[in-house]
Amino acid sequence: MASDQERIRERIKALLKKPGNGNCADCGVPEPEWASYTLGVFVCHSCSGLHRNIAQISKVKSLLLDPWSSSELEFLDSVGNIAAKAKYEQIVPAFYYRPTSKDYVLLLDQWIRAKYERKEFMSVERQEPYSAGYREGCLWKRGRDNGQYMSRKFILTEREGVLKYFNKHDAREPKAIMKINTVNATFQAAKIGVPNGLQITYLKDNSTRNIFVYHEDGKEMVDWFNAIRAARYHYLQVAFPGATNSELLPKLTRNYIKEGYMEKTGPKWRPILNANRD
Ligand SMILES: [Zn+2]
Repeated sequence: MASDQERIRERIKALLKKPGNGNCADCGVPEPEWASYTLGVFVCHSCSGLHRNIAQISKVKSLLLDPWSSSELEFLDSVGNIAAKAKYEQIVPAFYYRPTSKDYVLLLDQWIRAKYERKEFMSVERQEPYSAGYREGCLWKRGRDNGQYMSRKFILTEREGVLKYFNKHDAREPKAIMKINTVNATFQAAKIGVPNGLQITYLKDNSTRNIFVYHEDGKEMVDWFNAIRAARYHYLQVAFPGATNSELLPKLTRNYIKEGYMEKTGPKWRPILNANRD
């Protein structure tokens, strides 16, 4: 006769086989080994760690190692990843970046907080920080010459189609005006050496410029990132009428920047490196 423990294990296996439960509810990786018994979702090991950041809402346990009661499993059975998605991802804006397991962890952390803690995708009013078409605030910007970070006022305006920043908070003239159609923002915390660091690339006089910014508050930085994506999305919708989301969305963020290619790994240097190795 099967023991209670064996019956519980069998039941967990069966739950994981139900549609939707075979992939992490938050990042999509296959074979989740954890579950939130307060939200009713199955998640991967990394996302379970991020759920611990919202422990007042989500309580996680290992499906393999922790003890489970039959009432907890009943609850998991009654919700599951498909029903939870229908609830917590009701109205995710098309431009909103849905992170994968390969992304910078801040994006996943904020995605999980946005879904379950702030419930941003259950009511449009909560999406104002990135959906309003206008955003203004201060970011730490790395100085071009001395590398020191200074607080700068940034304004993103969809109507003007630009992102601009000001060197003095009461300055009338912006220090730089970046046309939103040329702007690309990517998280590059390791490269920049500050948490939540964002690299913003844009074109000026046909040459590529970079600025490096961050905000101590991860939510602020991810809101800026999505606000930039929103502005680019609306620009592209006007520029390419009739284009589908599957055509436009990949254009919102370029994650691979070929910057430095010629200087660092261009053909000029190869013979020298090879000579050294030989
Ligand atoms: Zn995950």
